[in-house]
Amino acid sequence: MTQGPSRPPLPGGPYLVVGLARSGQAAARLLAERGERVVGCDSGSPEGAEALSAAEVDARLNTDGVALLAGVRCLVKSPGVPREAPVVAAARERGVTVLGELELAWRLLPNRFVAVTGTNGKTTVTELLGHIWRTAAEPVAVAGNVGTPLASLVGDLDADATVVCECSSFQLEDAEAFAPECAVLLNATPDHLDRHRDFDDYLRAKLRIFANQGSDDTAVFNDSAAALRGIDLGGCGRRIPYCRGADPDCELTIAEGVIFAAGEPLLEVTELRLLGPHNSDNAMAAAAAALATGIDRGSVRDGLRTFDGVPHRLERVAELDGVLYVNDSKATNVAAATAALRSFEGGVRAILGGSLKGGDFEGLEEPVAECCRGCYLIGEAAERLARDLEPASAAGVEMRRCHDLAGAVDAAAADAKPGEVVLLSPACASFDAYRDFEQRGEHFRALVGGLEAR
Ligand code: ADP
Repeated sequence: MTQGPSRPPLPGGPYLVVGLARSGQAAARLLAERGERVVGCDSGSPEGAEALSAAEVDARLNTDGVALLAGVRCLVKSPGVPREAPVVAAARERGVTVLGELELAWRLLPNRFVAVTGTNGKTTVTELLGHIWRTAAEPVAVAGNVGTPLASLVGDLDADATVVCECSSFQLEDAEAFAPECAVLLNATPDHLDRHRDFDDYLRAKLRIFANQGSDDTAVFNDSAAALRGIDLGGCGRRIPYCRGADPDCELTIAEGVIFAAGEPLLEVTELRLLGPHNSDNAMAAAAAALATGIDRGSVRDGLRTFDGVPHRLERVAELDGVLYVNDSKATNVAAATAALRSFEGGVRAILGGSLKGGDFEGLEEPVAECCRGCYLIGEAAERLARDLEPASAAGVEMRRCHDLAGAVDAAAADAKPGEVVLLSPACASFDAYRDFEQRGEHFRALVGGLEAR
């Protein structure tokens, strides 16, 4: 396996790291360990940030950071910090270089990169790729916008390990020279419109993953994704499209329940442990990236067959009295919830709602009408959901407003008949009631556990 090309050098300090959650902390530590002068700042006081002083980082909490820019040559922006933040805007005005944490870490890691982006499926495909590499007994490190921050890998990784990293639009919008040897774009549907100006702006951020690729690199993309059809992907990477249906232009396809790679059968869809057609897309994406990066077909096939999925993504929790309970707490947007609803043949009792993030729910109306027996609406978004799903309700899908998740689980369990599915796939973020989607998913599991005990 070959090593990645040399990277552009860092601009030099002093550095100001803005945003001191996990990836910001990792970036600040990394720079300080390299002997750079580093000030870190955060508008709040995230867990662990105070401990940075022991690592020679001058951490300033509860500040917008603008006053800390004097003398700074490079601002390192954490993905959680918006581009419009006063300190970022002031830095740009003053000609201070602004780098994202992804770009910083990539410049310091000589390893080969497989980078994964998309609105939905990033974590699943990133973890699946890590699993395929391990199945092939090839060295790999998995990092991303959740889990291990990339910056924490610098200095800790064998040069022959491949870095598989999940890249969010927030990380990519700050990418400057970032050029992964293999880049994967899974899909693009509206999301995070509270932070991106509009869908075009969001898609542009996603396409940064291809922008700097050279002709030795590979660009894997979903040719079935409406937003990606016929657009200029950018960069010079070799295109590797995958799609549903037997399209001769696609390197990976699914026809009659079989995934084909380069025209040869790779495995049957029923061999995957992952649920739903969207996960067959994810399997094609991972297979395309792994094969393009030199993993042998046998290991790709074995890796696909033995991957159990990631918690909180269509996770089977229990089957009680013939009713399946599924935790898809990570479905924080309409496209993810749609994919979940379409993954089950029996009637679905869907728990929807949570906090609002700028979009509407009109896209959910059709899958709800097609797949649901009932919807159990919770949280800040309940009202908006009830309004946008009105046509599905008129078509006979029961709509119930519930006080909270516990009330929704109870109501759905009482209504569900054998063969049906009680699905938490909220199409919303969780911040109105939970720390994050994990906490919401754990609560769902506990509530289902409570039903089991009754
Ligand atoms: P991400 O890291 O992009 O948020 P995850 O793998 O964590 O993606 O999955 C997020 C949500 O999206 C889950 O609810 C999952 O079931 C759903 N999902 C996964 N892959 C896809 C896909 N290819 N298309 C649509 N939804 C998907």
